[in-house]
Amino acid sequence: DAQHPFQNTPNTDFSIPANRAWIERLVAQWKTKTFDTLPITVGGQEVQTETVVDGHDPSRPGHLLYRYSCGDASQVELALATAKRAQTGWDALGITKRAEILRSFAAVAAEERGDLIGVMMGDAGKAVVESDAEISEAIDFAEYYSRSLDTDGWYDGTSPTALGVVVVTPPWNFPYAIPAGGCLAALMAGNTVILKPAPETVLTAWYLACQLWKAGVPRDVLQFLPLIDGENGTKLLSDDRVGAVVLTGAYSTAQLFKSWKPNMRLYAETSGKNSMIISSAADLDLAIKDLVQGAFGHAGQKCSATSLAIVQRDVYESEQFRSQLRDAAASMHVASAWDLTAEVTPIIREPHAELQRGLTQLEPGETWLLEPKMIDNNPCLWSPGIRLGVKPGSWYHRTECFGPVLGIIPVDTLDEAIAIQNDSEFGLTGGLYSLDVDEIAQWRDAVEVGNAYINRSTTGAIVQRQPFGGWKHSSVGTGAKAGGPNYVASFKHWQQTSPSV
Ligand code: GLU
Repeated sequence: DAQHPFQNTPNTDFSIPANRAWIERLVAQWKTKTFDTLPITVGGQEVQTETVVDGHDPSRPGHLLYRYSCGDASQVELALATAKRAQTGWDALGITKRAEILRSFAAVAAEERGDLIGVMMGDAGKAVVESDAEISEAIDFAEYYSRSLDTDGWYDGTSPTALGVVVVTPPWNFPYAIPAGGCLAALMAGNTVILKPAPETVLTAWYLACQLWKAGVPRDVLQFLPLIDGENGTKLLSDDRVGAVVLTGAYSTAQLFKSWKPNMRLYAETSGKNSMIISSAADLDLAIKDLVQGAFGHAGQKCSATSLAIVQRDVYESEQFRSQLRDAAASMHVASAWDLTAEVTPIIREPHAELQRGLTQLEPGETWLLEPKMIDNNPCLWSPGIRLGVKPGSWYHRTECFGPVLGIIPVDTLDEAIAIQNDSEFGLTGGLYSLDVDEIAQWRDAVEVGNAYINRSTTGAIVQRQPFGGWKHSSVGTGAKAGGPNYVASFKHWQQTSPSV
């Protein structure tokens, strides 16, 4: 509201000694913590089921961190029936009341920031600063969405209706902020939610669900239902009682969902192959700093990660560029997430076939500027890799590897760079480093991505300032951007009733 305008929440400043002492205590406490088997929560009840699955810590190969229950077909049915029944009452509560609940969630999340950092370090192998940023983002989503169903300025006769039951199926790479964003937007708009967490990061999703309940969301309005992908997932997502599905994942997953239910209303943020152009007019120090951050932060496992740099030839050939980039990447501390100085942490599981190829095999004409290595005998822990001489149209140019590897394509002109950047089936994020205003103007008009960053890393969108979502095959569905003005409203059907004149 006008009296309390939205403001972004700052991340923790770990250079302050008190904050360092706090995080050190926290790490010691959470590293040794044990957990009871997590229940599912459907029909307003916590239930332990027969199917129990292990949850691992990517920083400690083989370490069993926790176990969680999975739902079966009858629990899917119960969840759907409950969500359907609870929806009218939740909707009737009204915008003001629901906004208050979202803000209480923000307060709970702020209060429990330390716990969630501890949870994500173990569950997702996520470095402390990256985990910390997710909590800020979730708080921002709550505060921002709580203010974003304002219908001032609409004509009389506009009436919104909630979609009904929304299923939220988040990814493991942002195990807290992304499910928080999906649940909060859907809930704010008067829908009930079934949260089906990513199988790799159920513990984080469980903490999120507990915080939402604590904030005042009833247990039949938000249900927590881990499923082993397969039949039960299909049953849940394709049911006619489901009004919409929120997905962050691969483009192929979105297509699979659609094949189950062609008229599915989908809010899907899907794959990317993001690149950054470095022009001859770039501030090289800044470009390299942000390139390394965008490529190797969270071990390259962000949809927004910089996977390619497209570099003008005079820069590309220069010893300064090569040595500075190599040194910047090689000096990153590759270590367990429990190590507070870690900059590159483990990937979520052993490399899948494409990442394995990206980390170990060069294409014709490529050379390593920095060859990735497995660290500490942990198959999930890899040092950064940089491939020089990547050819337009090659396997690496086309493939999203989702790990700590960066490829470089040399070009002669900005025109050529833009053509290569746009030559992708995806269009999530993209960057340009240049201090030349004409180049910036040219690029801004031409680049085909949802989030176009000028002299800034391609990762780390900030709620309200950089509403997030892609073009082309990087998004499937409504097109509204997360953390932006129309996102909550998109979780409604809008009806305009007009008289005859
Ligand atoms: N919003 C995140 C960012 O800007 C990326 C989200 C994702 O990986 O899906 O870095």
